[in-house]
Amino acid sequence: MTPIHPSRSELDVLVPYDAKEVKADVILASNEHPLNLPGEILAKIKSRLSNFDFNRYPDPTAHELRRIIAEANGLESENVLVGNGGDELIFDLLLAWGGPGRKLLDMPPTFSMYNIDAQVTGTEVVRIPRLEDFSIDEETVLERVSQGDIDIIIVANPNNPTGDLCNESFLIDLLKATDAIVMVDEAYFEFSRHTMRPHMARYPNLVLLRTFSKAFSLAGLRVGYLLAHPDVVCEFMKVRQPYSVDGFSQMVATLVYRERMVFESAIRDLIRGRDQLIHGLTMFEGVEVFPSEANFVLFRVEHAPALWRDLLQNHSVLIRDFSRSPELAGCLRVTVGTEVENARFLEAMADCLGHRRVSDILAAGESIK
Ligand code: PMP
Repeated sequence: MTPIHPSRSELDVLVPYDAKEVKADVILASNEHPLNLPGEILAKIKSRLSNFDFNRYPDPTAHELRRIIAEANGLESENVLVGNGGDELIFDLLLAWGGPGRKLLDMPPTFSMYNIDAQVTGTEVVRIPRLEDFSIDEETVLERVSQGDIDIIIVANPNNPTGDLCNESFLIDLLKATDAIVMVDEAYFEFSRHTMRPHMARYPNLVLLRTFSKAFSLAGLRVGYLLAHPDVVCEFMKVRQPYSVDGFSQMVATLVYRERMVFESAIRDLIRGRDQLIHGLTMFEGVEVFPSEANFVLFRVEHAPALWRDLLQNHSVLIRDFSRSPELAGCLRVTVGTEVENARFLEAMADCLGHRRVSDILAAGESIK
């Protein structure tokens, strides 16, 4: 065997990210939009394809897309950076402000990429776990930040996978307490309708992250963006790959963003669907449901892995199992789908939990004998 020179030792503890492609009739596992792009937008994309310059490199900084995002948010283009999904911008943040000898403050359970990117870039992770109800341990965070050695703080708001928004007053206290870069990850902003945008002028260390993957049906292309002070954007520019957002994605995202009002009624349907899912799940005995401001709902249930398997194998409904993560013991997450998909999920749950009760009773009966 040819020997291979070892990679960096920080990578020893990492395993490649594997988004398993499991087939199912009802896919409610990755917080995607259940519907494809609206027909009128698909038609416009098609009509542009024959004139599209596939042979040319894309505009490195996506000028047109930046311009319209800036305009919609009352900012200048210099305040906006478009990335290859929000994921790329999180990685760029760790590249620019992280690295050996530097620290990220992470508040698990939260989006796993923060921690993974910290490990990849050799950034130390200071963990301050959330409280029992998944709210942020505000006092401990503020106390830790006051030591003055944190370089990066990322707060998903709403948080994934728990779904809750944190207190705005806490975020303001945090921004007042530190000069670290504070990224507020608003990937689910269109569902929570809550943003820290009004506070940007006052806190130049505040960075907002958004994505086209959720409310705008574009998870299949990779487009995200951030809003930040121009000096912060400039630092991101130094580390990013110049052509990370391909021309086709720029063209589609620009069309989508221009026509974003078309997505409003589907967003409203998803918010309604979320509330129906929360209500439906609350009806089941033995299921603890967590409040959500996003397009997914987290719940805790006994024997979660068995239920997850039962839903998939016997009902072809795929959701996400977080129960092996220490902070999320017994937790499963379901993404809001169409009305029909949500109903299929709730019916499948009723069936699985109903069978379980019957088998529990039988098991109890057997043990009495
Ligand atoms: N932030 C959060 C909290 C997320 O849940 C996700 C996607 N799961 C992202 C960022 C990244 O989204 P994308 O790369 O698709 O833009």
